[in-house]
Amino acid sequence: MSRFSFTIAATDGKARTGQIDTPRGEIRTPAFMPVGTAATVKAMLPENVRATGADILLGNTYHLMLRPGAERVANLGGLHKFMNWDRPILTDSGGFQVMSLADLRKMSEEGVRFKSHIDGSEHFLSPERSMEIQKLLGSDIVMCFDECPALPADRPAIEKSMELSMRWALRSREAFGDRPGHALFGIQQGGLEQDLRARSAKALTAIGFDGYAVGGLAVGEGQDAMFGCLDYAPDQLPADKPRYLMGVGKPDDIVGAVQRGIDMFDCVLPSRSGRTGQAQTRFGQVNIRNARHADDPRPLDPECTCPACSNYSRAYLHHVNKAQEIIASMLLTWHNLHYYQELMQGLRDAISAGNLDDFVAAFHARRADGDMERL
Ligand SMILES: [Zn+2]
Repeated sequence: MSRFSFTIAATDGKARTGQIDTPRGEIRTPAFMPVGTAATVKAMLPENVRATGADILLGNTYHLMLRPGAERVANLGGLHKFMNWDRPILTDSGGFQVMSLADLRKMSEEGVRFKSHIDGSEHFLSPERSMEIQKLLGSDIVMCFDECPALPADRPAIEKSMELSMRWALRSREAFGDRPGHALFGIQQGGLEQDLRARSAKALTAIGFDGYAVGGLAVGEGQDAMFGCLDYAPDQLPADKPRYLMGVGKPDDIVGAVQRGIDMFDCVLPSRSGRTGQAQTRFGQVNIRNARHADDPRPLDPECTCPACSNYSRAYLHHVNKAQEIIASMLLTWHNLHYYQELMQGLRDAISAGNLDDFVAAFHARRADGDMERL
């Protein structure tokens, strides 16, 4: 029986490339996980998401427990079958989204009681219930239930929250039990306080997890502060396990985090921005709704092999976005996910070849040049 394992094939500085093996297939690292919030990566068929190069998707516990419900998904054969994606799925714990989306939250040592933002119905999430829901969904990589304080927060609040999350991490570990082929990841907290991050890492390592997330970043602290934290936070976590930076990020965030030793990422940016006319490209972000594209017969990026760039002009992408046609979301989401996966492949290749610094310099130089000259 194939088990969950992580192998590092090469390193360059602090950056690592390798592979996570699971019974549902391998995950090449550094990896980017497209977000399939409600059992779909919006505007994309699962086979098309796979065609962009994604090895794994992320599903959201909070959304799926409210609609259609975890027990219903389990009765229908689990999330993989339900959404027609047979490769690995990572689910978050629901904690972050309860804090950001739900109404009338009531926190206690036991867990969080809240009302659904969809219909006002009352629900309860705890480490035990989060583990149960993620098991019902059939998630391959399960995340600990934790609390993520919004930044800026004062040190006593961050410390108290981190300590609660560590008690919840132990309860998550005990509730998860022994499930061969499935992984449980711990989540480091501690805000931007180096010693609190160290304490959190020590507590998690003592419990023992299959992988470790750096949590509580990308919550409004800015890139400089995030990189400042990533200069030490990944080093505090075990080197032989995958390190996952939750909710990050923009392409330059990902590049900087890979240089600091992060192996896994997820972010709604490529899919969400694809639905609002924003293309993520080698040139930086391009707003296809800008009038300069209206008569431009050139592809979005002549070097990109995605369907949007292979078969359509900037003028067409501009038109369908202005007209709010569904194909606009389909094409730009596809392009954005393709761009992200190509970026990850470029990072993996550069780490393998030992020339990550050159790759990163070229990445920044191309973006600094900006979009193609207008016609
Ligand atoms: Zn493209």
